Amino acid sequence: MSMKYKFLLVIWGSFFLGSQSMAQVDEVNIYSERKEELIKPLLDKFTAETGIKVNLVTGEGDALIKRLEIEGKDSLADILLATDVARLYRAKSLELLQPVQSDILVSAIPANFRDGEGYWYGLSLRSRIIVYAKERVRPEQLSTYEAMTNPEWKGKVCVRSSSNPYNQSLVASMIARLGVEATEVWASGLVQNFARTPKGGDRDQIKAVAVGECDIALVNTYYLGGMLRSEMVDEKQAAEKVALFWPNQGDRGAHFNISGAGLTRAAKNRDAAIKLLEFLAGDEAQVWYAEMNFEFPVKAGIAVSETLQQWGNYIADDINLDQLGQYNAEAVRLMDRAGWK
Ligand code: FE
Repeated sequence: MSMKYKFLLVIWGSFFLGSQSMAQVDEVNIYSERKEELIKPLLDKFTAETGIKVNLVTGEGDALIKRLEIEGKDSLADILLATDVARLYRAKSLELLQPVQSDILVSAIPANFRDGEGYWYGLSLRSRIIVYAKERVRPEQLSTYEAMTNPEWKGKVCVRSSSNPYNQSLVASMIARLGVEATEVWASGLVQNFARTPKGGDRDQIKAVAVGECDIALVNTYYLGGMLRSEMVDEKQAAEKVALFWPNQGDRGAHFNISGAGLTRAAKNRDAAIKLLEFLAGDEAQVWYAEMNFEFPVKAGIAVSETLQQWGNYIADDINLDQLGQYNAEAVRLMDRAGWK
């Protein structure tokens, strides 16, 4: 066999092996707190574009973190996808994540919506805002989260349980901005104004306002968006009876939270996982979040959906979301002391 021919065989052989092993490793495993229907179509797009297969395990956030802890370095998960920043912060604290350095992620995502060391990145934004009954409340009566404790709202406030991470993050943001003492006075005042013992999810609070059980409620923006565009008549009708109010526009701005993700410490498919994170922060995915799930894009310059445009301009609290994780435990204790069930 001539030298030249041998050389070609070696090249061909390594190419063949290379593509074989690529076929084996090109997949990503995700533990997702986000429901399958709210992420799967995006993952399918990613697979279609890259050929990288994505395996999805969905579950409750705390349970997924527990599972990562138990599995340790043997975990098959490459990415943890969470719907609240405090969970990502906790996963980092428990050393379940590893840093990712990516110019694409850093340039797409504003600094306050990602971890300073690259352990987690925000992928979509949602605000926790006030909704009010159009028939009974004038927007001039509303101003801030703080003012929800005013006596005029006695027996008129609906909000879900304090075990919910969205509430915990809102309270954590207030601790960061106002201090523990003032936030505790606020939480106690809010509890005094509750129309009922907290129950249900955010959609249930909107429905309760619609039927007159309360006049104002705290909910995440995308639930209102989803109900307004719902195919279920009762949801759509309930949503149309309420309006959105952006709180704290004269000072720190409305509270924002993220859905986001980080690379697990145990990740076996590091390169493919980073590619997926970059895809989720890219234009196509960002438009999808806005259009399909009524979230705000985390990346600047992406058009928001028509529903979101109708809610007008707003000022967002620009707090570094890291702090929401930092104050999470304090927030939970504070709400407990305040009697927020
Ligand atoms: Fe949610």
